[in-house]
Amino acid sequence: CVGNRFGVYRSGFSVSVFHRITLHVKVLHFRVEAAQTKKMKTGVTGGAARPTRRKGVEQQAALYEALIATTPDLITIHDADGVTRFESPAASGVLGYPAGYLVGRNPLETIHPRDAREARAAFRALVVGEPGGFTAQYRVRRADGAWTRLEVTGQNLLDDPRVRGVVLKSRDVSQSHGAADHARYLATHDALTGLPNRALMLDRITQATARAHRDRRHVAVMAIDIDRFRMINEALGHGVGDTLLRQVAERLRQATRDIDTVARVSGDLFLVLLPDVDAPGLAGRVAERILTDLRRPFGASDRELHVSVSIGMSLYPQDASRAEGLLEYADAALHAAKIDGRSDYRYFRPRIDREIRERMSLEGGLRRAAERGELVLHYQPKVDLATRRIRGAEALLRWRHPELGLVQPSRFIPLAEETGLIMSLGEWVLRAACGQLRRWRDAGLDLNISVNVSARQFQQADLVERIVEVMDETGVEPAWLEIELTESSVMEDAERAIASLRKLKQHGVRVAIDDFGTGYSSLSYLKRLPLDVLKIDQSFVHGVTADHDSAAIVKAIIGLARSLGIEVIAEGVELQGDVDFLSAWGCHQAQGFFFGRPVPPDEFQRLFPISH
Ligand code: C2E
Ligand code: CA
Ligand code: CA
Repeated sequence: CVGNRFGVYRSGFSVSVFHRITLHVKVLHFRVEAAQTKKMKTGVTGGAARPTRRKGVEQQAALYEALIATTPDLITIHDADGVTRFESPAASGVLGYPAGYLVGRNPLETIHPRDAREARAAFRALVVGEPGGFTAQYRVRRADGAWTRLEVTGQNLLDDPRVRGVVLKSRDVSQSHGAADHARYLATHDALTGLPNRALMLDRITQATARAHRDRRHVAVMAIDIDRFRMINEALGHGVGDTLLRQVAERLRQATRDIDTVARVSGDLFLVLLPDVDAPGLAGRVAERILTDLRRPFGASDRELHVSVSIGMSLYPQDASRAEGLLEYADAALHAAKIDGRSDYRYFRPRIDREIRERMSLEGGLRRAAERGELVLHYQPKVDLATRRIRGAEALLRWRHPELGLVQPSRFIPLAEETGLIMSLGEWVLRAACGQLRRWRDAGLDLNISVNVSARQFQQADLVERIVEVMDETGVEPAWLEIELTESSVMEDAERAIASLRKLKQHGVRVAIDDFGTGYSSLSYLKRLPLDVLKIDQSFVHGVTADHDSAAIVKAIIGLARSLGIEVIAEGVELQGDVDFLSAWGCHQAQGFFFGRPVPPDEFQRLFPISH
């Protein structure tokens, strides 16, 4: 058809269609540039054309030239990489640059940084997508430095041999349509982060699934939620919360590719669309990268905040074929990730709905567990490595479920934290442990008891007062009680932790950092935290002699604790070799199956005559 139209190449060249097309495009370019510089002359198409045809072509070209020259809209043609190959004369009027300035440049150079990513994604979608159009709005820097809002409609004509380019038509809407545009922008974007909102995301998912259907590829949808965001918001104020959300948005943008879409749909719920996934496993790798990237500390009003996120994922076409279904299942998977203990990702599985229902009934049961007398504490000995005597015990919660039997805390503590039930459970644990401690002390046993306090309890403003109250009620001396806080819950907001721990310290209660080595402690904070004990996480301790890295970490933590002048205890000690290693390197105490499992109080008590 190229030949038919211009009749130029048909007689003169007997080359392949491909070559004819290329030649034609060269001619077209030449025409376009000529039109732009207003130097178009006849005879551009070469001498081989028949005179009548040539006249028709010239007339048509003149008509196009006139149209292009008089339209106030900026028309540009781009190659598949986005580089501008042609600009219409309106360019200098709309943007103020000298004629020809845009040609050879990528428009991203002039697009507002906050719009650049979306513009790039829209352009990519247009290039890789089915032939068709798109409409987008973004801000572009004028020659005088001011921002102009352009409404851009695009058409992918890369496959059209007459054009072989992406044609963009940009209209300046900054004044004429300012309010209407802004309304449209707000309708599709989240005001706080500038990210697309749910409506736009649904649209993108629909587009992506259509393309994936054609190309037999996968699409992944992730629902991402910041763990314990509500607590951060309540404890530190909404200003800090907003700053955190903006920073999370930015990190998510950085952790994903240009063609991916990141959206914020409500509160601390973000969505990520991976429109082009060749194998389902890729989504998991992206999720892991996001988890790692978001674990790096954030800065908000002079504070270092440590947060983690949970991620639920659904896949097209395995899980659902429609956008709404994918979102719903990503959300279900997120829910499952959260009650599983957070800070991790989960793929949607068809059984998830049932699992969630089971958790709900578990939650109902947990709510009434304390009043029904189903909660019990088990005690695990902590042993002094120098004397081999029991120094104390850690109180560990168990739930005697009427149907499920003895339920371990890993099954219900995360659920309790998620639902807030941990507050009342925690209070029950504290009271029960202190009561037991008093009875053992009365019976002449010289020991202290450690009680675990979860991150969520630690956020309670009156936690210290409550602890003091329970000690008073049960007649427990503060020095007999040790509070175990995980490293990550302390580092979540180290400044606040320092203040709370100081208060505890003033009352004489001992403080231990649990699971040490798994979080991100900064040494400067560690120096300022009023600590009594560092508890080396069991993942480094068990089988320490067989693993060089673990051995190095354990030695370093022992050295650190000793130089800070605080006690160090290793948990998860199971082997004689672990004990020997820890003793040799100067660890003060040990806890683990080697010395004794967590057992009910009467059984624990029986350990004493032997070790005394
Ligand atoms: P944790 O505070 O790190 O407690 C130590 C866990 O390691 C306990 O699991 C204990 O049974 C287990 N353990 C002790 N020695 C060994 C060993 O030698 N080898 C192995 N493999 N494991 C050992 P448990 O009782 O299932 O508790 C799990 C977690 O649940 C605790 O980890 C703690 O984070 C939480 N938890 C337990 N009770 C409470 C509680 O009353 N309040 C709160 N907030 N959390 C609790
Ligand atoms: Ca503990
Ligand atoms: Ca621990």
